[in-house]
Amino acid sequence: MKTRYIFVTGGVVSSLGKGLVMASLGALLQARGFTVRLRKLDPYLNVDPGTMSPIEHGEVFVTDDGAETDLDIGHYERFTGVSARSSDCVSAGRIYSTVLEKERRGSFLGQTIQVIPHVTNEIKEFIAEGEGETDFMLCEIGGTVGDIEGLPFYEAIRQFSQEGPAGRQCQFIHVTLVPHIDACSELKTKPTQHSVKELRSIGISPNVLVCRSEKPIPDKEREKIALFCNVRSDAVISAPDLDSIYRAPIAYHRYGLDDAVLRGFGLSEGEEADPDLGPWIDVSRRVSDVEGLVKVAIVGKYVGLEDAYKSINEALVHGGIANCVRVEPRWIEAEVFENKDPSGYLDGCNAILVPGGFGERGSEGKIRAAGFARERNIPYFGICLGMQLAVIEMVRNLVGVRNAGSEEFEHEHAAANGGRKTENVIYYLGTWQKGEHTEVRQPGDDKGATMRLGAYSAHLSDGSRVKKIYRSCRISERHRHRYEVDVGYRQQLEHHGVRFSGMSPDGKLPEIVEISDHAWFVGVQFHPELKSRPFDPHPLFADFIRAALQQSRLL
Ligand code: GLN
Repeated sequence: MKTRYIFVTGGVVSSLGKGLVMASLGALLQARGFTVRLRKLDPYLNVDPGTMSPIEHGEVFVTDDGAETDLDIGHYERFTGVSARSSDCVSAGRIYSTVLEKERRGSFLGQTIQVIPHVTNEIKEFIAEGEGETDFMLCEIGGTVGDIEGLPFYEAIRQFSQEGPAGRQCQFIHVTLVPHIDACSELKTKPTQHSVKELRSIGISPNVLVCRSEKPIPDKEREKIALFCNVRSDAVISAPDLDSIYRAPIAYHRYGLDDAVLRGFGLSEGEEADPDLGPWIDVSRRVSDVEGLVKVAIVGKYVGLEDAYKSINEALVHGGIANCVRVEPRWIEAEVFENKDPSGYLDGCNAILVPGGFGERGSEGKIRAAGFARERNIPYFGICLGMQLAVIEMVRNLVGVRNAGSEEFEHEHAAANGGRKTENVIYYLGTWQKGEHTEVRQPGDDKGATMRLGAYSAHLSDGSRVKKIYRSCRISERHRHRYEVDVGYRQQLEHHGVRFSGMSPDGKLPEIVEISDHAWFVGVQFHPELKSRPFDPHPLFADFIRAALQQSRLL
C-alpha cells in the first residue's frame, strides 16, 4: 500500500485547534474509505508529558500500550476510533535522548553529532515507521512556526517531502488565525501572510491553509490570502468557531478541506466517492436535539483549566449523546469544602464525579463529596483517585477506621496532624508482590516510569451493576496510577453493602467498587473516559448520565 503523508503545522498563535483539524481530516478521509494513522510530534524537551502539570499542559492521555501522551492523541482517537500506539507520539526530548543513547552506544563513532542530520534523521524515522500500513499518515507538529524548539521538526518534514521511495507524496496544511478587528470592522489577513512567509523561509510551502476565525471568511478575503500566500483559493479553507467540536468534520467538509487535500494528491473529486458522513450527521443531530439537561458536579483539583480534564469532559458529552440530554458540568475546586459542609456547592447537582488526580491537596474535600453522594443517594462516579478516596471515606465512616488514609499522602497528613499516622487502605503499587497480572516497574529515580500504565483486564462479578452495564464479565481498560486499594478491607466493606465487583484476573487488585443499595455508586481504578467516543459512548458514562437523568426527575 502506498502511504501519503499530510503534515499539519500552526501559525500566528497557539491553541488554534490544529489537533481538531487533523482529527477531523482523519475522520473525513475514513468517511471516503481510506485508512489513516495520526501522529503528534511535540517540540518540548520533556521526554513525555507524564511529568507536566495538567494545569499548564492539559490532561495526559494514555494509550493501550501504556504511553503517556499529549491530549491531542485523545482527539484523534475520539474522531477516528483508531487506537493510538506509543509510536504515535514523540517529543523533542525523546528524540534527543534516543540520539544521545545511540551516541553512547557508539552508533555514530567518529562523527560529530548535529541537529542536521542526526536529530532530523531520528525524526524522519519516527514519521516513516509503519509506512505502507495505511493510505494516509497524518502528522501534527506541536507549537507555532517560529518557535526555536520547532526548527528541527520543520526541517525534518521538509527533508522528508524531498526524499524516500519514488512517488512518496506529501501535503502541508498550515492552520492560522484570521482575526476580526472590531474598531474597523475588518478581517485581517496580514498575520496569516507573515506566518506563511516564516514557513516558506524554512523551505516549506503550504498546500492548504486552514484559517480559523470567529465567523466564516468571505470569498474576497480568501482570494486575497490565496494571492499573497501562493496557494490556490480553493485551498484556503474557512474554519469558523463552532458550538460543538463534533460538528467540525461536517463543517470542514463543507468548506472544502478534504477536497482540497485530495486534489493536492491528484485524487480528484470526480474519481473519489462522496464521503459517508452519516455517523457525523447523526452525532451532530444528537448534540443539539436534546430533551433535557443534567448537572454534574466535577470535584477536582485542576478545575482552572478545562483541558486538564479533557477526556472526562468529552466522555460526559458522549454520555449525554447516549441519553439525548445536555450535560452541564459544574467544575468545583475540591479545596473549597475541605472543612466545610459541601451542600452549598453540591445541592442541585444531579450527579457527582471525582476524577483522577495526584497529591494530597483537595483530597479531604473530595472525600467529603464522596460521602455526600453516598449518604444522599446521589449518583457518584469515582475515577482512579476518585475511587481510592471513596474507599477511604467508606472505611472511615462505615467500618469505623477514623484515620483511614492513603500512603500517597501519609507524610503530608502526619505533618498537618502533629505526626498522627494514617492507617493506609491505599498502598503503593511497588510494595505489592508482582503478580502475573501486571508488569509493574519498580520505583526508581525515573519519575516517568513508576506507574501502572496502559490496558489491563479485569473480571466482573456475577450479579453486579457493572457487569450489567458492560454486558460482559471481562473488560480491558486503561490505567495510570501508582497506588492500589488494599483488598484486605474487602470483607469489612462487604458487610456494609460495598462490593468489589471488578478484580484483576488474579484476584489481587480491586478494579471496581460499587454500592449495591444506591442510586448509582461506582468507583473504578482505571480511566474509562479515555476509551469513550461520540459514536460509541463508554457504557459507564452512558449509564452514569442515565442515573443522573433519573435523579433529576426526582427533584
Ligand atoms: N494518585 C493516585 C495514584 O497514583 C491516583 C492516580 C490517578 O487518579 N490517575 O494511584
